[in-house]
Amino acid sequence: MDPSSIIRKTAADLRVIPNLGDYEAERQHFSWEAVSRELSSQPHGGVNIAWQTVDRHAAGGLRDKTAFRFLAGGAPGRVMSYGELSALANRFCNVLRGLSVGKGERLFILAGRIPELYITLLGSLKNGTVVSPLFSAFGPEPIATRVNLGTGTVLVTTDALFDRKIAKWRDRMPTLRHVLLVADDGGTTAVPGTLDLAALMASALDECEMTPTTAEDAALLHFTSGTTGTPKGAVHVHGAVATHWATGKYALDLHADDIYWCTADPGWVTGTSYGIIAPLLHGVTSVVDREEFDAERWYGILQDESVSVWYTAPTAVRMLMKAGADIAKKYAFPRLRFVASVGEPLNPEAVWWGKEVLGLPIHDNWWQTETGGIMIANTPAFDIKPGSMGRPLPGIDAAIVERHKDGSVKVIDTPDKEGELALKCGWPSMFRGYLNNEERYRKSFAGEWYLTGDLAKRDADGYFWFVGRSDDVIKSAGHLIGPFEVESALMEHPAVADAGVIGKPDPVVGEVVKAFVSLKKGFEPSEALRLELLGHARKRLGAAVAPKEIAFLPRLPLTRSGKIMRRLLKARELGLPEGDTSTLEADA
Ligand code: ATP
Ligand code: MG
Repeated sequence: MDPSSIIRKTAADLRVIPNLGDYEAERQHFSWEAVSRELSSQPHGGVNIAWQTVDRHAAGGLRDKTAFRFLAGGAPGRVMSYGELSALANRFCNVLRGLSVGKGERLFILAGRIPELYITLLGSLKNGTVVSPLFSAFGPEPIATRVNLGTGTVLVTTDALFDRKIAKWRDRMPTLRHVLLVADDGGTTAVPGTLDLAALMASALDECEMTPTTAEDAALLHFTSGTTGTPKGAVHVHGAVATHWATGKYALDLHADDIYWCTADPGWVTGTSYGIIAPLLHGVTSVVDREEFDAERWYGILQDESVSVWYTAPTAVRMLMKAGADIAKKYAFPRLRFVASVGEPLNPEAVWWGKEVLGLPIHDNWWQTETGGIMIANTPAFDIKPGSMGRPLPGIDAAIVERHKDGSVKVIDTPDKEGELALKCGWPSMFRGYLNNEERYRKSFAGEWYLTGDLAKRDADGYFWFVGRSDDVIKSAGHLIGPFEVESALMEHPAVADAGVIGKPDPVVGEVVKAFVSLKKGFEPSEALRLELLGHARKRLGAAVAPKEIAFLPRLPLTRSGKIMRRLLKARELGLPEGDTSTLEADA
């Protein structure tokens, strides 16, 4: 079977009526104003993410419905209803007021996926305090850089993380006024210079008046993944909920009785937009797992928690593929009805793997930290062209454009022609600035278009195909080569688990394509295998595009959010400085 064959959908593939049934009609009738009306109007006006996600459910019919099932390996989990979550967030809002922390101040959270992360995030939003969740595996340096860039005044963390990453470096974060600690053993803490969160929460009231916020007030600060350079801090507003609601409906197809699992950490935008906000907006029950990736554990969660909608990332899919189909066979997923993925291109192999192993193809979707929400997606009712990221959602206008030297852009209408992916401004979750980098923010726009920095093409059916980041595209003998195409071809070979492709400077052709591959369990690097892979790629891609060199690596350098850092492969290959590696996985 050619992995790029279209996956045709029929009514039999749908277990519920999809939220996006008639693509053209829905796009035509869609308006963001109508979505805003759909979201409940708040008692005192304005828009606040915490009210929209939690309070309105807590005050209505979903008070006792489970919002989160928090799972923790080896320890008992915790189930939290919408009513409890609302009351606990109120308490935290009162805690902040007791500490004179106000609207617009910035609060950072450095914690694993524990209930306190979710409670303090929502409580801060009620107080109008801007939240920035950080990935808990960051070291002291990246933490301090981000807290300083965001002039953080409050840090919520755990006693173990404080001990390992903050205590000695606290002087380097001069704007921090308060550090609130969660005891890892669930008890209390008494660390000099810090406050015990549990004690403060115990004496705070369950009720609070929300600080008035408008749709344009800042709510969240998310740092990009640092795949192409130093991570940028993107500012997002409360009004972004309109996008989260619309995309939760269309792209994740959330229905009231779903059990939903988003595997992303809230330290990345996906883990907040789709691990917290979108599922709560739709009043569904989410599973949150504190543990890191483990194939058996993940299959176990999908089965035992009866997950119906699963949102994950290509890196996780590739790791499951690497672990082998035998493990998957021990589990069954009768309730699973929709699987989606984001963060990197999803290779056609992986789309089909989903169909074979999970019984469902994987639906790729595309967005960025800057866009705040899903923009382009494959959705349940429509055929999948494996390797394509799908079509723009209702409310989103996407185009392929060509930048001109004078800063203007021209829309390319010809199908299948490569250019920069651009989005027409006006969707509610668009970022409102890069922290301390007004210039870069300004340069991201040309007239009505936001320029994404990604290269893509659109086919005659309106499906978008990712080509590469503009920084990663390889120019060889007059051809523009997207690394993704080459990586996908290599991944079709049964021995290849992961592939990263770069352009290596060459005096004759400009750049030659060089591939780095890691192998699946049971395969060993050898000269014979190298030659076989070169041959396989040449057959599949043609000589002009196929890699000229292939090197084996035990694992590729990935960001902590699972993206291949091609810039690092290139720096290492050329013996150049590695640049910002704050988001690089440990030991990579
Ligand atoms: P930085 O901007 O710091 O280099 P980053 O761009 O990886 O990091 P994110 O905002 O987390 O940071 O990632 C968004 C990018 O991820 C997109 O611009 C795109 O390059 C890539 N991406 C996301 N989803 C997809 C997808 N479905 N297919 C292809 N690429 C994707
Ligand atoms: Mg980016």
